[in-house]
Amino acid sequence: MQLQSIREALVYYGKKMEEDGLIIGTGGNLSAKDEETGLIAITPSGVPYDTLTPEEIVLVNEKGAVLEGGKPSSELSLHLTLYKEREDFSAIVHTHSTYCTTLSALGEPIRAVHYLIGNAGVHEVPCVPYVTFGTDALADACAHAIGQSKAALLGNHGLICGENSLKEAYHLALSMEFVAEIQWRAMSAGAPKLIRKEQMDDALIRFESYGQ
Ligand code: 13P
Ligand code: ZN
Repeated sequence: MQLQSIREALVYYGKKMEEDGLIIGTGGNLSAKDEETGLIAITPSGVPYDTLTPEEIVLVNEKGAVLEGGKPSSELSLHLTLYKEREDFSAIVHTHSTYCTTLSALGEPIRAVHYLIGNAGVHEVPCVPYVTFGTDALADACAHAIGQSKAALLGNHGLICGENSLKEAYHLALSMEFVAEIQWRAMSAGAPKLIRKEQMDDALIRFESYGQ
């Protein structure tokens, strides 16, 4: 069995995704690319995370041919298309988290209601119009809308985000849910004041030197 540590990481973050309330049931999926071989490891379709094992993770090549495992996530095409379009992505996390999905049902992008939107590298996270799950059309619509953002809302569906590691992609999904919740709460109480584009540009510069 190839890519044991990547398989274990996908299982770990899959279970965490459920524990952290980012999905219910078998919703959502995760993948990671092995830089050495170019192979992609992705969660299997419709398998509950609480019983998921590393052996059940599916390995595919960049064209989507299954090399090890059973039936891959129904969103394989979405993951593969984003890896093709975005060389900065080594891991992708897709959730149905409540507040991101709420905004996606309103057709609202995630806006700059909190500077942590900068984790997505942009001042506004686009919302892709509704397209049937698991289709190439959804993959194309997402690749078209995401631009330079590391995250996108999928209309009436959820969130997808990519990063250079699974850990970072997972944390990006958590921070997008935080910003979406603040936006929803602020919208419920009135008209949110947004951080202006030039103010967000300043914040993005500070992000580069943030931390140790
Ligand atoms: P899979 O179980 O096939 O990954 O589907 C879940 C999902 O969220 C589809 O959009
Ligand atoms: Zn989904």
